[in-house]
Amino acid sequence: MLPKLRTSPARKRKRRSHHALSNANLALCPNCGSNRQPHRACGSCGYVRPGLQVKATKD
Ligand SMILES: [Zn+2]
Repeated sequence: MLPKLRTSPARKRKRRSHHALSNANLALCPNCGSNRQPHRACGSCGYVRPGLQVKATKD
């Protein structure tokens, strides 16, 4: 494809105005109190829900 007209800087910037990343939604872990993403295992203690805990990654 060969564009007929070159995209102007303003048009390019307007298109890219929607490309910004938003902050991750964080909730407190009820087990250890650190931040974790909802519906995911806690990164520091591995807590998922009552009765289920997975191995936390070491880092
Ligand atoms: Zn935790």
